[in-house]
Amino acid sequence: MRLHKSEAAFFVFVAVILAAGIVIFHAYDLLFSIAKGLGQSGRFDDIVYVSKLLFGAGLLLATGLFFGLFFIFPLIRRQVKEENKLRAMTETLSVHSRNLERAALTDGLTGMQNRRYFDEALKEYLDEFRRVDKPVGLMIVDLDHFKQINDTHGHDVGDEVLKAVGNCLRDMTRYHDVVARLGGEEFAVVAPNMEMETMMRFAERIRKAIGGMAIVSGNVRLKVTASVGIAIWDRKETADALYRRADQQLYQAKNTGRNRVCA
Ligand code: GH3
Ligand code: MG
Ligand code: MG
Repeated sequence: MRLHKSEAAFFVFVAVILAAGIVIFHAYDLLFSIAKGLGQSGRFDDIVYVSKLLFGAGLLLATGLFFGLFFIFPLIRRQVKEENKLRAMTETLSVHSRNLERAALTDGLTGMQNRRYFDEALKEYLDEFRRVDKPVGLMIVDLDHFKQINDTHGHDVGDEVLKAVGNCLRDMTRYHDVVARLGGEEFAVVAPNMEMETMMRFAERIRKAIGGMAIVSGNVRLKVTASVGIAIWDRKETADALYRRADQQLYQAKNTGRNRVCA
């Protein structure tokens, strides 16, 4: 049994009472033997009186001990148990809220980060990189004619395609890149420390990897292509402005024939 601080203090209290009891008992005993030696002198009554007082004090101590053991201690014990229960509950609650927080930032279908996470992360990255004066690249990836896949093969097959693209993006990126599903068939990659040239090559690799995938769902085997818009942070603009520029490039890629990267 592990003792709480208040329980340990209680046992100190019991030990002090017991020690006082032993001292009183010893004094009582001594007093009696002195009284016997004195015979029937005039001080005898006084000594008997003191011994009665000592006996009374001993009784009070015994009562205190009894009260402490059978009333105070159970109360302390119950309080400690309740405190422990409360602590366990608080811990479970904080695990729950951490899980909720994680769920709120994760896309349910692909397990990737979601739009909310992306918005926060992009702002944070720009704040960080403003201090160290390094580039940050943003790429928006949108699947081409995805609606046709849904219409032709059904929504479930569409979902499989989205998961496959999510896995592909995860495989192609570095651990410090932010990879998120922004919604529908649109994904984003925030790639810190990348200038335009490297970002272009990176985006081309991703576009080719998506185009090269053969997605198998049941007896359907299909291919999908993606259009990509890129912008490199100009080290002054806001996250929203950077996003708008990348989105304009995506629009450009769609308008000039799809399955391409525009920057
Ligand atoms: P574009 O090449 O111009 O991008 O054409 P698109 O068909 O890819 O784009 P559009 O915006 O017309 O259609 C996107 C489709 O994505 C429509 C919607 O039903 C589908 N979609 C959105 N979210 C999901 C999802 O979670 N699962 C599936 N299977 N489809 C989704
Ligand atoms: Mg699309
Ligand atoms: Mg779209």
